Amino acid sequence: MTAQRDIHHFINGNAVPGTSGRFGDVFDPNTGEVQAKVALATKDEMAAAIEIAKAAQPAWAAVNPQRRARVMFKFKQLLEDNMDELARLLSIEHGKVVADAKGDIQRGMEVIEFACGIPHLLKGEFTEGAGPGIDVYSMRQPLGVVAAITPFNFPAMIPMWMFGVALACGNAVILKPSEKDPSVPVRLAELMLEAGLPEGVLNVVHGDKEAVDAILDHEAIKAISFVGSSDIAHYVYSRGTANAKRVQAMGGAKNHGVIMPDADLDQVVRDLVGSAYGSAGERCMALPVAVPVGEGTADKLIEKLLPEIENLVPGHSTDPDAAYGPVVSAAHKAKVESYIQMGVDEGADLIVDGRGFSLQGHEDGFFIGPSLFDNVTADMRSYQEEIFGPVLQIVRANDLEEAAALATNHQYGNGVAIFTRNGLAAREFASKVNVGMVGVNVPIPVPVAYHTFGGWKRSAFGDSNQHGFEGVRFFTKIKTVTSRWPSGEVADQAFVIPTMQ
Ligand code: NAD
Repeated sequence: MTAQRDIHHFINGNAVPGTSGRFGDVFDPNTGEVQAKVALATKDEMAAAIEIAKAAQPAWAAVNPQRRARVMFKFKQLLEDNMDELARLLSIEHGKVVADAKGDIQRGMEVIEFACGIPHLLKGEFTEGAGPGIDVYSMRQPLGVVAAITPFNFPAMIPMWMFGVALACGNAVILKPSEKDPSVPVRLAELMLEAGLPEGVLNVVHGDKEAVDAILDHEAIKAISFVGSSDIAHYVYSRGTANAKRVQAMGGAKNHGVIMPDADLDQVVRDLVGSAYGSAGERCMALPVAVPVGEGTADKLIEKLLPEIENLVPGHSTDPDAAYGPVVSAAHKAKVESYIQMGVDEGADLIVDGRGFSLQGHEDGFFIGPSLFDNVTADMRSYQEEIFGPVLQIVRANDLEEAAALATNHQYGNGVAIFTRNGLAAREFASKVNVGMVGVNVPIPVPVAYHTFGGWKRSAFGDSNQHGFEGVRFFTKIKTVTSRWPSGEVADQAFVIPTMQ
């Protein structure tokens, strides 16, 4: 038995034990054992944390942007210094292998690097002489207290997408991380404090629906950035906006990889194996659907995929030889396996069955072997819904138009990829496909931090993306000042609307 830890809230710069008497189990997915208990906040505990953030925010907003950027620079350094410890902690709560955990931290750190440019990003616009003696200028101001509600699958990157930009803009943040792997978000908040962020400006409050509802209904919360599954995203968006808050709510995904007959199939197979099975398929930008175009392409693809899949052996997440680790929970393992059975019942061909995989010495871990389906069709529920596990589904298409229509007509529209050597076909596809992020010969087209991340359709509710300038826009409000300092002859004239002169 592993010794159990208590995971507390982090409020006003301190570890604060929960008072609700309610706790969530934090598992080690490698062993199936509960390794920690996380406090689940009540509405009142959440309200108290929000009041602390509200009190701390004005002084933080008054710190000039260059000094706020210095805190971000320092935090980035601390992330690098603590990379190994953070990655290990992340790996044993989430189950992704340590190399993936480092990637999770690295991608978040890139948003922190972006946030280091905040003095430049917050510069407003200025028009001299919009009328006689009249200048017009705009400024971006923080919103106040904002909330970040995050999923289990990127416990470092996604909190940093949100608090990196929100804090740099001068807001205070309530971070409500996933209760499944809450330790890394707390460590990040501790490191922000060490980097020089004042107490109370970044608070981590753990919890479930009760804590989320307390955020959605609290008057002092001005904006909510959410990432999670689509039904919850839609709920957060609806209730948050009904309470007149600004909300961006990213949801689930089912991304397609279109493989043209002229694609470099060896490259495609390497990319597909990494993007369909990496991190046990628990990535919103994974490629769980392969769409080979033309009969010959599908058969060649499968022939090349099979030996690669055979070599793909899951293992303990801290084992450097593991292809990928366990999924996050027993419930999630059961869900993924039920989708595999659904695919079989719906008539798809299960070529590789990952069910029943057991890791010697870790028989109670939440491991699932890789699965491969062929002849999946668009009318199958197992295709229409997100599985979020190590399962690759092949849907055969006769031509590019048919392949593009699959991605365009799917309920989710997070990412899509096309593999081809034909630039014109790729260009047309990227332009026309009804999906928010497109990869051309890039399997996981997650945009770099200074661009912006966001899907379409049921993959995102609200109209603003994460990070990049969209993030700055989301976490600030714009004020426009029209000022008149008349002199000379102009001083004697009555004010007239500048556009009339
Ligand atoms: P989830 O929806 O279960 O949880 C997300 C957050 O919502 C957590 O903080 C959780 O505590 C909270 N929550 C859960 N149930 C709630 C309820 N009934 N009411 C209010 N709040 C509730 O998602 P998850 O399982 O943690 O994460 C996986 C999902 O996130 C997948 O669907 C994945 O595609 C999606 N995801 C999307 C993106 C994206 O950018 N589009 C990125 C990563 C993950």
